[in-house]
Amino acid sequence: MTQLFETLAPVLAKTSDGNDFPVRRVFCIGRNYADHAKEMGVEVDREAPFYFTKWAETVIPTGSTMAYPPMTQNFHYEAELVVAIGKGGRNIDEAQALDHIYGYATGLDMTRRDLQLEARSKGRPWDAGKNVEQSSPLGLLHPISETGELTKGRISLTVNGEVKQDADLADLIHSVPALIAYISKAYRLEPGDLIYTGTPAGVGAVLPGDEIVISIEGLSDTVIKVGPPLDA
Ligand code: MN
Repeated sequence: MTQLFETLAPVLAKTSDGNDFPVRRVFCIGRNYADHAKEMGVEVDREAPFYFTKWAETVIPTGSTMAYPPMTQNFHYEAELVVAIGKGGRNIDEAQALDHIYGYATGLDMTRRDLQLEARSKGRPWDAGKNVEQSSPLGLLHPISETGELTKGRISLTVNGEVKQDADLADLIHSVPALIAYISKAYRLEPGDLIYTGTPAGVGAVLPGDEIVISIEGLSDTVIKVGPPLDA
């Protein structure tokens, strides 16, 4: 028997102390800041979060140039706090959720907004809008043993030096422990899983040549350049 072809090597994120963190799956939370839900013209659900998923291969490291993707004229940034799972579990209790966190990073949930909104209005899945090649830029992962639990602190994003998003982690509707409890009801969370926890208000479009910087108090920045389309 022969292996028919080579497949992707694991995606390795970097930790702040120089280790490799293999990425397993990417969960992204929707509508987790009230002001962002409002700007998108939708209601927030305070009873339960919701999420969509992206391929691990969409994760690219800070410092990368991200190709402008095909099939969009409205490619949006979304600054997010990212939580990395270090210890797996099913039906994780909120009170024990911190034991399952490896650490935190800054990140971006880049979105083909035109395709997402079209899917939303037709009641279709969001994959074409959200699960976009190179669409999950990620900063260095800082171990929770060094940062402590992050429940507040400024989260902000600039495009070419201009502040576009500026909020506080205290504004998260569903807390990180609540998200871990919720997702682990549906799946066994595993080491290497990443949870992008949602974006605050101020989302908008970028174009080739733009530079995006996302900052969260206590974490290192993610810096991303938007490059030309892949086929240009
Ligand atoms: Mn998002």
